[in-house]
Amino acid sequence: MSKPLAMLGGRVLTPEGLVESDLGVEGGLISERLPEQADLVIDASSLLVAPGLIDLQINGGFGFDFTADPASMWEVGRQLPATGVTSFLPTVITSPAGNRSEALRVLAKGQPPGYRGARVLGLHFEGPMLAQDQRGTHELAHLRAPALEVVYGWGRAEGVRLVTLAPELSGAEPVIQILLDRGVVVAAGHSAATYEEACAALRTGVTHGTHLFNGMPPLAPRLPGLVGALLEHADASVAIIADGIHLHPATVRLIRTSKPATQVVLTTDAMAGMGAGPGEYALGNVVITVGERSARNQAGGLAGSILTLDQAVRNFASFTGCSKEEALAAASANPAQVIGESGRGRIEAGKTADVIVLDDQLMVQATVVEGVLTYCRPEFSARITTRESGSPEN
Ligand code: ZN
Repeated sequence: MSKPLAMLGGRVLTPEGLVESDLGVEGGLISERLPEQADLVIDASSLLVAPGLIDLQINGGFGFDFTADPASMWEVGRQLPATGVTSFLPTVITSPAGNRSEALRVLAKGQPPGYRGARVLGLHFEGPMLAQDQRGTHELAHLRAPALEVVYGWGRAEGVRLVTLAPELSGAEPVIQILLDRGVVVAAGHSAATYEEACAALRTGVTHGTHLFNGMPPLAPRLPGLVGALLEHADASVAIIADGIHLHPATVRLIRTSKPATQVVLTTDAMAGMGAGPGEYALGNVVITVGERSARNQAGGLAGSILTLDQAVRNFASFTGCSKEEALAAASANPAQVIGESGRGRIEAGKTADVIVLDDQLMVQATVVEGVLTYCRPEFSARITTRESGSPEN
């Protein structure tokens, strides 16, 4: 249950930029002014207060894989606030149809009773309608040609928010159209689309590019391809994996200078090894070896990441030299915009109170999900006063 909360003295990242301000939360929403009687008072002096982070592509983490075990979305969701994530799209990769329907069933049942964690906003289906040559770790045996029967039961109402497909595949156009009609956002990815095919897809209503540069042919002198089309179209947003491995920092800088700031989205593409240490983990049916910095398949190809979204924000700021505001927006306001989640991603009166508190190094100190303090670092508890005790919470 969300109780009235006051966050005092922080530098708050608002749509107008950073402002020194107190922040009130009531009924799970950001309020116009401080509540008359706050149950929880947080001293945010000398700290940054920013919108909670939103991950549009996460395959699992902390040892769990959503494709193999969709019910683990709640276990992972409980742990994500420690990384600043307040909402996310569990991502199901190319797999038999039964894996996707199981994920939809899990979502339809809703959060477990007493759940305290990041909000699941819906599912991201990455595959199975992907280009063979650009499939990466997606299993060849489970790829499907675009067809209406593949997307039977995929709609916003059923919990599908985002679908990544290869738009150049024969039969993709009516599939894209029906997904758009059902309120699903369609992204191009794992695609060998030519520039012309990619431009046609953007005209059809594809609005987003999944992990730009990864899972698509490189930009070439006479073959700009999907990369060129996504970089050129100011209306299209692009997701990037800023772990320093999927993209060279210079590539990240080039993406930033090519795109409007609002169209660059940080995602993790994290897999089970994120937050779990080196070892062997499942990604769907495939065994992935996780080292200190990356996750790789048997062939040595990158297979998801072990990146957390707060680290992606820090990396993006350090790779590009952009402001903290821009880096934080790339993981909050921008992803909210991509999926039309207009009530989140910004600190404004009336929006959902998904809020994180960070230090100057952008390290997460505390996370509020829908008005509920869901995570704080042990050192942070000295900054919290509850009305009942009138003293710091233990
Ligand atoms: Zn992928």
